[in-house]
Amino acid sequence: MKEYEMKEHSTLSTIYENICRDTGKQNESAKLIAVVRLLTLSMLVHSLAFCILVSFAGHIGTLVFGIASPVLFLAVFVLSYHCSTFVSYCILNVCILFWTCMNIYCFGWDIGIQHFLVVLLVFVFFCKYKHELIKILFAVALFVLRLFLFFYCKTNDPLIVLADNLTNSLQMVNTFFIFLALGLVAYLFSTTTQEMEGKLIEYNRKLMKQANTDTLTGLYNRRRTMEYLENLLKAADSQISICICDIDHFKRVNDTYGHNVGDVVLKTISETFQKRLPPDTFVSRWGGEEFLLIFPRLNGDEAITALETLRQKIRELSFDGGFESFTISLTYGLVEYDYHSDITTLLKEADEKLYIGKEGGRDRIVF
Ligand code: GH3
Ligand code: MG
Ligand code: MG
Repeated sequence: MKEYEMKEHSTLSTIYENICRDTGKQNESAKLIAVVRLLTLSMLVHSLAFCILVSFAGHIGTLVFGIASPVLFLAVFVLSYHCSTFVSYCILNVCILFWTCMNIYCFGWDIGIQHFLVVLLVFVFFCKYKHELIKILFAVALFVLRLFLFFYCKTNDPLIVLADNLTNSLQMVNTFFIFLALGLVAYLFSTTTQEMEGKLIEYNRKLMKQANTDTLTGLYNRRRTMEYLENLLKAADSQISICICDIDHFKRVNDTYGHNVGDVVLKTISETFQKRLPPDTFVSRWGGEEFLLIFPRLNGDEAITALETLRQKIRELSFDGGFESFTISLTYGLVEYDYHSDITTLLKEADEKLYIGKEGGRDRIVF
């Protein structure tokens, strides 16, 4: 049972691979050649069904036409493996157009084959080839052709007059294959568009993330921080506190334990910020071992409480330096937004407080 399923699966995938097989030419659309071949196959089956039905009419002309049609689409299918995608695409368009016109000429308007002109319209607009203007001209040409065929049928009898029940059967078969062809073209091309759109959105999201974050710590970078601060101060309707903090004697950490250990310290501290500070705190890597913390709804006193908890948690961290473990501390310069200072002044003030903290012995919050 399993073996049978596997065989069936591999046959299906071989058929699928063959239908999608490219023409060996460079820069060809794999999707388009698959659509051309599937549409040709659908036309082949359609014309076969057509052939069987019209043979009931018993007219020698209908029989010749009925047999010639599948042969025509079989030839288009074979050609699609030897010509470029564009040539195959054009041949198919011409064949469908010719086949539709011939059917209307032979059997009249009532068999409903004229709707294939709509399939062609959709097929042309979805195709990546052709200039926009050519597509519009083609659409106008199809419209004019359809009107012409309609009035032609109004004033001329078909070459072969079919019995009513045969006309109805052909109408049903044609409607089915027109729906199939239209669905096929629209489905295959719309999935490509959706896939492309999805990839583009994901790619844009990644680009945005890269543009806004620091690669080592994953925190927001300076560019994004300035953008955030500008917007925050513009719409400030509650207390805002800003803190610049800097790792104490970080150069010593690098010199003693190596740059890699220094990087681990930066990452661990960044994680601690994210874990220990209030959830709406904006945390960014301001520079080397300096961080900017923005508390969008806290006044200075409330920010001190949050920072004091953080300071203690960071003091409790133990780092593996290889031959010994060590701890680290940060010094914090905190300012409260007074509703009229600009960003430069606020950051300068926070920096000055940080400097005072460093001068005063480090591992402290200066407000
Ligand atoms: P202070 O307490 O006065 O701030 O002393 P400090 O040693 O921390 O300050 P200093 O400005 O002298 O040194 C900062 C060090 O931070 C120097 C630099 O190599 C290191 N640093 C900056 N960025 C990185 C980084 O991404 N990774 C590592 N490992 N080190 C970094
Ligand atoms: Mg430092
Ligand atoms: Mg520094």
